[in-house]
Amino acid sequence: MKHYAIIVAGGKGNRMNRDIPKQFLELDGKPVLMHTIEAFHRSAAQPEIILVLNILQHQFWAALCATHRFNIPHQVIEGGQERFDSVKNGLQVINTEAVVAIHDAVRPLVSPELVQASFEMAMEKGNAIAAIQPVDSVRIRNNEGGSSALNRDELYLIQTPQTFLSSQLNQAYQQVYSKEFTDDASVVERAGFGIHILPGERSNIKITYEQDLELASFLLKR
Ligand code: C5P
Repeated sequence: MKHYAIIVAGGKGNRMNRDIPKQFLELDGKPVLMHTIEAFHRSAAQPEIILVLNILQHQFWAALCATHRFNIPHQVIEGGQERFDSVKNGLQVINTEAVVAIHDAVRPLVSPELVQASFEMAMEKGNAIAAIQPVDSVRIRNNEGGSSALNRDELYLIQTPQTFLSSQLNQAYQQVYSKEFTDDASVVERAGFGIHILPGERSNIKITYEQDLELASFLLKR
């Protein structure tokens, strides 16, 4: 079956106090997004790469690719209003039975081995969702302004890649958008499919805040 990777980079990223979207910030001499694409390109799964990018950033990305002589083949697609819409746009270019990995552009430290493992597990079980367990204690807020403890051994922190048979994604992404769809597993689960957890990586961080970039640079140098 054909392998695809949809890299979603359609967001504006306003949690970091900078004008430039997070996926373009420089990490060890090149934009975050180039590290991400390279990880997928280096994986044994050899997926065809679809990059979903805000239309206003297409020219900027083309210029960055020229500057950095970045020549890993990839198709650039227009982003949507929500992450859900961006993924949906990416899916539209896949018109064959396939295994599809969906990955946040802002997780540049994903290993090629995790990418490969997610394709293998999705092929076998229908999907594979990378996740780690919390090391911190966790509490949930209640209505009275207080909170109560949760058992962290029963919790997962969900990462990407999230990899699926295209048949699951195509069915799930026909649903009407809901605010609860914060990732692809939540969309596919709502469509009635069981979700399969794949051990993720602590280093597979999502560049969200300023200090995440420094941490990523440190981890990359190891
Ligand atoms: O919103 P959040 O931080 O969870 O975004 C995760 C990923 O989804 C990011 O890589 C972001 O660029 C992408 N995204 C997107 N289209 C949107 C919003 C977010 O591709 N409209």
